[in-house]
Amino acid sequence: MRRFSAFAIAREAMRNHEGWGRTWAKRSPAKRYDVIIVGAGGHGLATAYYLGRNFGITNVGILEKGWLGGGNTGRNTTIIRSNYLQDPSAAIYEKSRGLYETLSQELNYNVMFSPRGVIMLAQTHHEVRGYKRTAHANALQGVATEWIGPERVKELCSIMNIDGPRYPVLGGLWQARGGTARHDAVAWGYARACTDMGMDIIQRCEVTGIDRDGERVTGVQTTQGPIGCDKLGIVVAGHSGVLAKMAGFRLPLESVALQALVSEPVKPCMDVVVMANTVHGYMSQSDKGEMVIGGGTDGYNNYTQRGSFHHIEETLRALVETFPMISRLKMLRQWGGIVDVTGDRSPILSRTPVEGIFVNCGWGTGGFKAIPGSGFGMAELMAKGYSPLTAAFGLERFREGRFIDESVAAGVAH
Ligand SMILES: Cc1cc2nc3c(=O)[nH]c(=O)nc-3n(C[C@H](O)[C@H](O)[C@H](O)COP(=O)(O)OP(=O)(O)OC[C@H]3O[C@@H](n4cnc5c(N)ncnc54)[C@H](O)[C@@H]3O)c2cc1C
Repeated sequence: MRRFSAFAIAREAMRNHEGWGRTWAKRSPAKRYDVIIVGAGGHGLATAYYLGRNFGITNVGILEKGWLGGGNTGRNTTIIRSNYLQDPSAAIYEKSRGLYETLSQELNYNVMFSPRGVIMLAQTHHEVRGYKRTAHANALQGVATEWIGPERVKELCSIMNIDGPRYPVLGGLWQARGGTARHDAVAWGYARACTDMGMDIIQRCEVTGIDRDGERVTGVQTTQGPIGCDKLGIVVAGHSGVLAKMAGFRLPLESVALQALVSEPVKPCMDVVVMANTVHGYMSQSDKGEMVIGGGTDGYNNYTQRGSFHHIEETLRALVETFPMISRLKMLRQWGGIVDVTGDRSPILSRTPVEGIFVNCGWGTGGFKAIPGSGFGMAELMAKGYSPLTAAFGLERFREGRFIDESVAAGVAH
């Protein structure tokens, strides 16, 4: 794989950029792999990458029914933060945020990590108490966040109206090293690194069945034929329930569409990410100048991977008091992705009732930020059978009542 460097870019500039190779190889599936990962989204690719990098397991096939990164990974609004309430969540999200800090250098691929800072607004007294509590919890967990008053919020984001009649801004939870990254680049960077280690990424290869020998997995049926494996990682976000059904077990998940939209590009006016969870809306500005806007999930379970008109109206209505300037913006495009939501709003990284099958799902509306940390922990779980990062997120917690309640930090927040 040609490495990117100032020297390589200068050389290619001289010869019409004809010397770059393919970013990832176009391959057809082998007959069997040590490990198959279903789903070439960020979590699947990161799992494969850390299996190779940390454990030397490179006979890996990554099977994707569509195109690489075309699921939620390429549809999200890219917020990265780790200001969660519970200890296991803070540990995995902070690990992830830390890995993002150096991911471009590690992958030799610019993922455009931008730690511009994230404010979670408090617009009711209940939220003030909730976020102060989270700030205290974060201090104990070693996650750098702070409670800030309304004047500081205004200073950080001058386009905001903090004196709204219905929802005045009472303060916020500020994470200075939270921010955004380029979502496609995260998928592409991991894919390039996986290819470099000799792994196969097979696009347009839908898994249609899972083969078992008694209680053990032996392989998968796909639209490109049967493929054998010793271990299988199911990493398909909103379609996890469908894959689990093929394997013969159920997951405590609901699949629901989450939508987002962007405005026409405008001059730089906002250099932080702002989330307003009471009214269900959040906003940041992309490098292109578009205002990136999102809200809550659809009110009913569905697999409809697209946007709808009611969402534009609901989300802009929610945000317009706090951001009056959006009333004058033309909206450019909208879309949706199918997210997988658990009852306690925490993910599942776990063994399953079928020996050799592991699941990584339940990231719901907030898994982009977790991609590096989740891949790191999931790879350890698949390679060694145990990972301290994922231990609390096993399936058995639903049977034993050991929930990791993040409904405050992650109910509608991304
Ligand atoms: C509108 C929106 C905004 C969001 N905003 C944020 C945010 O700001 N911050 C944040 O942290 N998170 C956010 N999220 C959530 C985040 O996008 C997801 O949690 C994360 O991308 C999930 O990644 P993944 O790799 O698990 O899933 P995906 O990227 O969806 O990848 C799963 C892949 O599996 C494939 N697949 C499914 N079934 C099969 C099959 N049978 N065979 C083969 N392949 C299959 C799919 O085609 C897909 O490519 C948002 C999500 C949406 C939809």
